[in-house]
Amino acid sequence: MTQIKETRWSKELEKSIYGYWKRNSLYKFNKNTKKKIYSIDTPPPYINTPVHIGQATTYVLMDMFARFRRMLGYEVLFPLGLDKNGLPIEIATEKRFNIRLTETPREKFLELCKKLLDEAGSETIDSFLRLGISFNSFNIGTNIGEVYETDSESYRKITQNTFIDLWNKGLIYEDERITNWDPKLQTTLADSEIDYEEIPTLFNEIKFKVKETGEDIIISTTRPELICTCGMIIFNPLDKRYESLDGKTVITPIYNKEVKIKSHPIAQIEKGTGLVMMCSVGDLSDIRFFREMNLEPVIAIEKDGKMNHHAGFLNGLKVKDARKKILEELKQKNLLAKQRMINHRTPISERSGAEIEFISMKEFYLKQLNYKNKIKEISNKINFYSKESKRILIDWINSISIDWPISRRRYYATEIPLWYCGNCNYTIVPKKGNYYLPWKENPPIKECPKCKSKNFLGETRVFDTWFDSSISPLYILMYERDSKFFKSAIPCSLRPQGKEITRTWLYYTLLRCYLLTKKPIFNDVWINYHVVDEKGQKMSKSKGNIIDPKTILDKFGAEPFRLWAASEGNLGKTDFRCSFDRIEGSSKTITKLWNVARFISFFSKVKKPSKLEYLDILIINELNKIIKFARQNYEKYDFHNPAIKLRNFLWELFASHYLELIKSRAYNRENKFTKQQQDSAISTLYHCLNIILKLFTPIIPFITYKIYKDLNNKDINFEEFPKEGKFTKLSFTTEDLMELNSAIWMTKKDKNLPLNSEINKLIINKKFKSIEKDLIVTHNATTVNFGEKFEIKF
Ligand SMILES: [Zn+2]
Repeated sequence: MTQIKETRWSKELEKSIYGYWKRNSLYKFNKNTKKKIYSIDTPPPYINTPVHIGQATTYVLMDMFARFRRMLGYEVLFPLGLDKNGLPIEIATEKRFNIRLTETPREKFLELCKKLLDEAGSETIDSFLRLGISFNSFNIGTNIGEVYETDSESYRKITQNTFIDLWNKGLIYEDERITNWDPKLQTTLADSEIDYEEIPTLFNEIKFKVKETGEDIIISTTRPELICTCGMIIFNPLDKRYESLDGKTVITPIYNKEVKIKSHPIAQIEKGTGLVMMCSVGDLSDIRFFREMNLEPVIAIEKDGKMNHHAGFLNGLKVKDARKKILEELKQKNLLAKQRMINHRTPISERSGAEIEFISMKEFYLKQLNYKNKIKEISNKINFYSKESKRILIDWINSISIDWPISRRRYYATEIPLWYCGNCNYTIVPKKGNYYLPWKENPPIKECPKCKSKNFLGETRVFDTWFDSSISPLYILMYERDSKFFKSAIPCSLRPQGKEITRTWLYYTLLRCYLLTKKPIFNDVWINYHVVDEKGQKMSKSKGNIIDPKTILDKFGAEPFRLWAASEGNLGKTDFRCSFDRIEGSSKTITKLWNVARFISFFSKVKKPSKLEYLDILIINELNKIIKFARQNYEKYDFHNPAIKLRNFLWELFASHYLELIKSRAYNRENKFTKQQQDSAISTLYHCLNIILKLFTPIIPFITYKIYKDLNNKDINFEEFPKEGKFTKLSFTTEDLMELNSAIWMTKKDKNLPLNSEINKLIINKKFKSIEKDLIVTHNATTVNFGEKFEIKF
């Protein structure tokens, strides 16, 4: 009688299992636990787009981390967050309802954002459930471990509270500066939200005149429309060609403005003519240069991306049209020497794809320049997986040259909780504890404390979405919501996240949490690389190479996908490729595990005898090695290498060799073995299967749950992770044994004999004496002799 009734594993079995897990809140977080807490600050996905394959893979890996820690005896805090704030939601709303934020009343726009989010529904949550992710809860709420939303009153309140704290500590100031401007989204962006793309651009050689000598010099530029903002001409100090120009004056073409010419190391000798026109706002290095040289910037581009009065005859034109027009003008005046196409490294808005402009805006800034070294120190106290990933963070910190602009002129985000006196402009900072909407509500005071005026203006700006996201570990650990719990639970055990958001999510979180708590907020940081297509290309809609996790779940279920995610590669170290074939391929191992378990389940369980047979000791030895290996690597967030080892063990040593060798002893149909010898085989089979299931269960939780339940009537989720037992020394190694088996099987195969054909005489090394009987029965040998040289006689 088998204890496993279903003849095959099928994906339909998963549904009833995750249904059971959900109904019984199996992974609920117990706040009153006596266990140590292991907390995972999962990245909140945007819910208006379906879960993509990269997310599915990384959440499945995070789930393995969570399940493993539960088995180690931790109370695991593993909540799902949903990001519902900021530009991505606003951009989607503009698209969906064909509106522009700038032309829509605020109330109306917010309403439509909410509508969009409602339409998205619970698809994201359902996908995670189907993937077998063991989140504490699948219900949205504000209790610890429940699904949280970044646009909830509860979350936004904490965002505002932390702002008020930072304000009161003097860490926030307002200043008018040149900022990165996204002309499409009409908002300031932080440096961290900018990407660079090589864009084919005209490189123009333009004639300038040296005032003192009257000679022409040629300057190359991709942005001739910015000549009106030119503040200086520079050349490299090592560039002998221009030594004589140092300190002279140059007259700019068309605008006839006098600027100085100086040597400076940022000018590259090989680029263009080696002479560089420094404009107030050409790109980031220009901005830094103006700051460094203390030059007064001239802002010629307005918020809407059009030129202003500083540009003279270009006034009112969009940047690209202005560029065309000034080139025509230069050509006509014979001031344009040459033109050629180059690939120009252009700053691009990460969110909208628009080319960044630089304009002057008044924004709130959070001080970060003073804390660069502190954050580096903090990072040294955190374990990075992989170690090399830390470099990405450190390089970013080193490159920071300006404080963090945190205010945005958008709507669907957390409001900046400030009011101003309409009479004396006094800034009113409310008390912590409420969620404030200054753009439509009155301040929580009756009159201005300074001038007693009752006339107030509410702040209309909102926070950068990273200002919300960067407190996620504080929020999940109940910061300012349950101080006692917070104290017991910090630091957060793990931040798992993508490498592309190191400069934003990770950096800002470390900064914000340091400013608020003075501590490193994480013990471990695990940075993941990317899932790419079969050819190693990034997946995108436009390339048509997207693999939808829903299709995978419909076709194969979660288990082959999860096993694939663990065994395909180590996402903590490299990108890896994704294909249906590879995922489907891993279902063979799922089937193998099922068949092995089912085979074992045919035997009635027996007690472990006082003495085990050599072969049984050997397989237990081998499994001990794998237990040790899995434990050590799982702790380092590497599920890849153990998964491969475990898979190979299952197929090779365990199924192909060990099962073959002890099958007859376990059945003992002809009573060739003693009861003790038979029991040794059967009890070892069950022992091994249970260990294999426990080692596998973080990776493939459904099938292991089902088998373990059927065999032991216990929930594998609440079993302890195996510990390696003691190692017993044997006269031969596993490799010796596999070599012997293969040699016998090969000889039979070479002679075209079936594997069970009788061997008349088998001569093998004497180290195998201890398993003589198993070998005789398995290989059907009449006599076995022991000698130095291997020999078979039929
Ligand atoms: Zn006042």
